Amino acid sequence: MTDCIFCKVASGEIDSKKVYEDSDIVAFHDINKKAPVHILIIPREHIPSLLDMDTEKQALLGQMNSIAIRLAKEHGVAESGFRLVLNCNQDAGQSIDHVHLHLLGGRPMGWPPG
Ligand code: AMP
Ligand code: ZN
Repeated sequence: MTDCIFCKVASGEIDSKKVYEDSDIVAFHDINKKAPVHILIIPREHIPSLLDMDTEKQALLGQMNSIAIRLAKEHGVAESGFRLVLNCNQDAGQSIDHVHLHLLGGRPMGWPPG
């Protein structure tokens, strides 16, 4: 999608600090990190929200999860603990309409989230 920030990050049109990429998935550091480790994992395909990831996209969601686990290990937060967050729509605070999984770690995080 031409107007989407994360499509542009995926294609390289917008610079980012990438930590992983393959033919389906890209992962990069969040530009405004909320924890010492804050990485976003996105599909290359423009998928607006989790609501669009029905049965045929479940495998892609699984790939995003696997990469998040791998990156948690690589960034040293697997043992200390980490959180995966996928905000969907307004009340959850989704600000970019291209599915993204947050990997957060490196500090204690409160529960429930605000
Ligand atoms: P959400 O509020 O769940 O939609 O999360 C969007 C996230 O994208 C926020 O944490 C932003 O800091 C992050 N973000 C926005 N633009 C960029 C960008 N160009 N590169 C990296 N992270 C970004
Ligand atoms: Zn997009």
